[in-house]
Amino acid sequence: MTRYLGDDFLVPSLTPANTAFFTSGTVQIQFCEDCNHAQHPPDDLCYACQGTNLAFRATPGTGRVESAVLVHHAIHPALKERLPYVIAVISFDGAPGCNVTGNVVGCAPETVEIGARVRAVFEEAKDPESGKQLLIPQWELADA
Ligand SMILES: [Zn+2]
Repeated sequence: MTRYLGDDFLVPSLTPANTAFFTSGTVQIQFCEDCNHAQHPPDDLCYACQGTNLAFRATPGTGRVESAVLVHHAIHPALKERLPYVIAVISFDGAPGCNVTGNVVGCAPETVEIGARVRAVFEEAKDPESGKQLLIPQWELADA
C-alpha cells in the first residue's frame, strides 16, 4: 500500500532490534525464551528477567485501539496535506502488555474510537541507507 503520510515523510532507521518489525510484513514481537515475557519496542535485555535469550515471533497482526488522537495541526510540512489524521496506540493480540503507536488508515479519521478492533496493513518504503525494502506496520479498522 502507499504511504499514509507521504513518500517523503521520515522512515524508521533500521537497527538489529527493529529490522524484523519493519521489514517482515508480519507483526513480529520480541519474546523472552526463558520467561515468555513479550516486549515492544525490542531491546537487548528482557525487561522481566533481565535475560538475553530473546527471539521474535509473528503475532496474529490484529489488535485494539487503546487511545487515539485526531491531529489537526501539521508539525512537519510533509504532513500538511494529510490533515486531519489519526495517531493511535494499538495493543497487539498475542503479546500482552505490548503497544505500538501508528496510524489508522483507510477510513474517515473521526470514526476511529477507543476499543475498535484493527488489523495490520503494511506500507512499502525503501530504507535510504541500505536500500532495503521496508514494510511499515499501520492499522485499519477490522470491522470495515
Ligand atoms: Zn525474560
